[in-house]
Amino acid sequence: MRRSHRIRQVVNYLNLSTPLGLLIARLGRARTRRGERGLVYAHGYRIPFPVAGAFTVGNVVLTKHGDGYLTGCLLDHESRHATQYAYCVGLPMLVLYVLASAVSYVLCGHPASWNLFERMAGLDDGGYPRVHPRWRRSRSV
Ligand SMILES: [Zn+2]
Repeated sequence: MRRSHRIRQVVNYLNLSTPLGLLIARLGRARTRRGERGLVYAHGYRIPFPVAGAFTVGNVVLTKHGDGYLTGCLLDHESRHATQYAYCVGLPMLVLYVLASAVSYVLCGHPASWNLFERMAGLDDGGYPRVHPRWRRSRSV
């Protein structure tokens, strides 16, 4: 494991975001296992919220999908979210993320396209569209 991943792992455990992620995984009856980069993969998450292919809380990456889903660009994307938790000192990230989603929704009608966290994690890697802000759209119907 890279040193930066180890630091992130320890920071996100201490700031309680990873323990919260593990609790959410348990509530959603997901199967957890050790993943790459110090992450914990939680497959088979059963709660239909949030609506996403995968989401991250601390170092825990949760998905309703089975083993093998968390790879490539999506894993890169979720790994960046884990780093964002470390920079946000853990749980405040949840509040900031909701605010960023609201701002994005107001700007363009989509919660991710102008969400600072999603843009920094990579919209394309997360499978999100690049929706133009309302004022840059054609006014014709
Ligand atoms: Zn994301």
